[in-house]
Amino acid sequence: MPAGLSTKNPALGNTLAPFYTPYPPPNRQPGGGVIFADPGPAGGFSLFYSSVQVNLMALQFDLVVIGSGPGGYVAAIRAAQLGLKVGVVERESLGGICLNWGCIPTKALLKTAQVYEYLQHAQDYGLTVQGAGFDFEAVIKRSRGVADGMSKGINFLFKKNKIETVMGTGKLLAPGKVAVTRADGTTETVEAKSIILATGARARQLPNLPIDDQKIIGYRKAMTPDSLPKSMVIVGSGAIGVEFAYFYRAMGTEVTIVEYLPRIVPVEDEEVSRQMEKSYKKLGINILTSAEVTKVDTSGAGCNVFIKTAKGEQQIACDVVLSAVGVQTNLENLGLEELGIKTEKGRILVDNFYQTNVPGIFAIGDIIPGPALAHVASAEGIICVEKITGHNPEPLNYTNIPGCTYAQPEIASVGYTEAEARAKGYDVRVGKFPFSASGKAAAAGVKDGFVKVIFDKKYGEWLGAHMIGANVTEMIAEVVVARKLETTGHEIIKSVHPHPTMSEAIMEATAAAYDEVIHL
Ligand SMILES: Cc1cc2nc3c(=O)[nH]c(=O)nc-3n(C[C@H](O)[C@H](O)[C@H](O)COP(=O)(O)OP(=O)(O)OC[C@H]3O[C@@H](n4cnc5c(N)ncnc54)[C@H](O)[C@@H]3O)c2cc1C
Repeated sequence: MPAGLSTKNPALGNTLAPFYTPYPPPNRQPGGGVIFADPGPAGGFSLFYSSVQVNLMALQFDLVVIGSGPGGYVAAIRAAQLGLKVGVVERESLGGICLNWGCIPTKALLKTAQVYEYLQHAQDYGLTVQGAGFDFEAVIKRSRGVADGMSKGINFLFKKNKIETVMGTGKLLAPGKVAVTRADGTTETVEAKSIILATGARARQLPNLPIDDQKIIGYRKAMTPDSLPKSMVIVGSGAIGVEFAYFYRAMGTEVTIVEYLPRIVPVEDEEVSRQMEKSYKKLGINILTSAEVTKVDTSGAGCNVFIKTAKGEQQIACDVVLSAVGVQTNLENLGLEELGIKTEKGRILVDNFYQTNVPGIFAIGDIIPGPALAHVASAEGIICVEKITGHNPEPLNYTNIPGCTYAQPEIASVGYTEAEARAKGYDVRVGKFPFSASGKAAAAGVKDGFVKVIFDKKYGEWLGAHMIGANVTEMIAEVVVARKLETTGHEIIKSVHPHPTMSEAIMEATAAAYDEVIHL
């Protein structure tokens, strides 16, 4: 139990545990009832009125962060490093969606799927593996264990940085004031000079796809199913949809992806979408594009999915439907309307340093405009607190944010697609290097995919890079750094890349853009 936590009232059991009561009680009492003063283990002080704890003075911090996802927890740690006394209000688990229900547990599931696929193709590597199978409960348990371990790691980092966690739901009362409602209904007031909102997002729901967590599920249930479904329709082919498609298909589920737009992974470069569709079809995933789910009939044993396509209406029977149609921000009951904090299209409006229109109140992560990605939330959190503490951070360059999809093949991209660059009026040089020509890819048995690079002909600016294949999510950082340093194509060609590696494909694709490619 960390110093300063009050657990003295046996009637309240552990529900009090996360609440810090650091101040001596003021000279006033609520009317009537029995009041017990509790000096707390570290000189803290709180009062108990009947069986309910009443903290008569607010907790005081320099900075309070509401939400402990990769935006909130990173902001909190950076602020503590910069000397602020920081409190973090969290209603569920430290680490937010990313660590508990997003980036991390999905990658644990995808690793299992990849290993299982390797075992099934062991003979391709000259190996004999008999009886490869799985215990699905153990697969899910491993993923949950990885997520729990990461969440506990945040608790460790908070203690190390002397950050207080206040468990409960936060709501703005006024600039500098937050009410925190605990699970037992009691309320605490927290005060701070600055408040950062980092409350993240949840699965978006479509009216014709109401998530019931039985037959129509969202990403949380897709990570914790009771058993492996025999068949699944996945609605939406963004990163979340295609990652689950790979996981379930690799484990043996019949998977159909339904995408409203004309191609899967629609935000990616068109050639990447085409390669992904080819690779997924090879895996046995059924893909319907320019298609819309109009209705799901769940009255029978499974689901009957009604899909409108260019060729007419189609019905697909399946065990379960996964709705993967994006996310919706958690802005309800935050006190935004009462304080007049401006929002647009469900996102809080902020300036370059994440200040809302109300001084002292900031917002970062999924709840503001921009890509809903963990690394973006973290970068915003760091810039925000550096500005709050009087430093002079550079605003975030949103055109140099990498985006990754961790299915097999992986996808990684940064900057403009070829179509976007042309639409912006650039005269472009485009180079492409397929992994079928890479020695490392051949040795590893992963020859699907390519690296595509786009440069501006006039000044040599690196406008974009789009990769699909094994390990590309590790390779994209090279492009991000090069673009940050305003590196030109020739500097990449002249930077010696190790051989044999997948990363040589970046050098070769760049050489292809300048008609200097060697291995094609
Ligand atoms: C299945 C899935 C896979 C993903 N994979 C990736 C990936 O591989 N890479 C990537 O970059 N991104 C990924 N994402 C997106 C990523 O998880 C989010 O962009 C990121 O978590 C956003 O961080 P955040 O800090 O804004 O909010 P969140 O991580 O959503 O955290 C917000 C926190 O605030 C808490 N909260 C909300 N309201 C209140 C309140 N009123 N009081 C107290 N606490 C509150 C919530 O409980 C939550 O813990 C994935 C998302 C999903 C769903």
